[in-house]
Amino acid sequence: MEKDCLFCQIIAGDRHADIVYEDDLMVVFKDINPHAPVHLLLVPRKHIRSVNDLSADDQGLVAAVIMRARYVAKEAGVDKSGYKLVLNVERGAGQVIFHLHMHLTGGWRA
Ligand code: AMP
Ligand code: ZN
Repeated sequence: MEKDCLFCQIIAGDRHADIVYEDDLMVVFKDINPHAPVHLLLVPRKHIRSVNDLSADDQGLVAAVIMRARYVAKEAGVDKSGYKLVLNVERGAGQVIFHLHMHLTGGWRA
């Protein structure tokens, strides 16, 4: 837990988020400023700055996040119509929260 990290604060329950799924590895919540009809963030509980900072020990965690995306996409009703999974890596790519997260966006008309 990094006390100045917004997503660590959400994970710790110190800040509100609209959580749709959580387990021992990750929390999934609605993006506060959605760019699509469905916009979720899949966030590992472990504070990792970005994809650049992943270690070999994180392989299972990365797999779990992608596999969970399939389920939350289905729950949100966008699995058949389609969705995007995006990881912004560092500032030039638009990363503004430096706690690893994967965006799931969808819900556009097919
Ligand atoms: P990124 O640009 O990849 O770092 O994405 C950060 C995302 O976090 C943006 O889409 C923000 O809208 C979202 N965000 C920022 N603050 C919150 C919050 N308190 N609850 C939910 N989502 C947030
Ligand atoms: Zn954090």
